[in-house]
Amino acid sequence: MSKSERWFDEGAAVFRRLDSSGIFGAMQLPQDGDHYPCPSCKTAYSREEISDLTLEDVPPKNQGGKQLLLTCGECNHGSGRHFDAHAHRRAIIHNLAMGRDPGREVKAVFDAGGAAIRGVVSYGAQGVIMRGVAAQNSLQQIEEHRRALDQMWKSGVDPAFTVKATQRFTPWRAAVSWVRAAYLAAFAALGWSYAFRPELEPIRHQLLNPDSETLPPLALIDLNAPQDRRGMMHVRTPGDLRSLLVVIGYYSIFLPGLTDPLSCQELSQTISQWTTPGSLASVRFSGEPISWPTSPAYALDKILLDRLNGAGESQERAH
Ligand SMILES: [Zn+2]
Repeated sequence: MSKSERWFDEGAAVFRRLDSSGIFGAMQLPQDGDHYPCPSCKTAYSREEISDLTLEDVPPKNQGGKQLLLTCGECNHGSGRHFDAHAHRRAIIHNLAMGRDPGREVKAVFDAGGAAIRGVVSYGAQGVIMRGVAAQNSLQQIEEHRRALDQMWKSGVDPAFTVKATQRFTPWRAAVSWVRAAYLAAFAALGWSYAFRPELEPIRHQLLNPDSETLPPLALIDLNAPQDRRGMMHVRTPGDLRSLLVVIGYYSIFLPGLTDPLSCQELSQTISQWTTPGSLASVRFSGEPISWPTSPAYALDKILLDRLNGAGESQERAH
């Protein structure tokens, strides 16, 4: 049995039991057959449609992610285009700034006192390496740039030299990619009874409406953090940050919590106070750590189902 089939069967079985227990209110699934709802768009896929589901990497593979769950191909590929590509381009620039990706060349403009040329910048053993690319500049531009550099050098004044990376990305789209990764990791750890709560609806709404910026910012960035950092915590205090904190590399993402959850909007308002990198380190969090999932674990779903079973059994005993 393939990994997709195994994850389909496990997921479909857990979802069916939750659905029959009525925790979602109205029934979500058809009466018969095995169905796996995509955690991202909620569309239920039958076993015959299993080829429409994909093994998704969390975070995206080019950000060091590993296969973690099944999502539908439409969501997986759509996110790649609308969000993950922006996160990737942003990471390239962050890594350059932190000297973490030696040899990777990033397109840039070098400006010497108003005389600019196009080229590439990279980080190597000798430090930052800037290289003009002849084919992207006219001879006149190259000559003017050289003259400006000469003049700066000879005059001895502080050089007005800037390097501007020209990799294009949209910051809010890059941020949504990380919120999505956090949401999927939280789903894999806890299951549908967490992910399908109404407080998480704004995240799915953003994912289903990729061109309108509707989700308030939920992620903080710390470029000093190791890129392979992973963590999850049910934060109880401070109370105005009670949440599910998901930590992936440079990013800390605050999702609505497990008990008395705050809305995405409320969480966003609170975290907007921590705007300087590393400032989060001064906040004392307390709560319960949740292990980083390596496959769908459905931990909260299983606790709920056990509890419901227990209740069912004791009712039967009472009769
Ligand atoms: Zn989907």
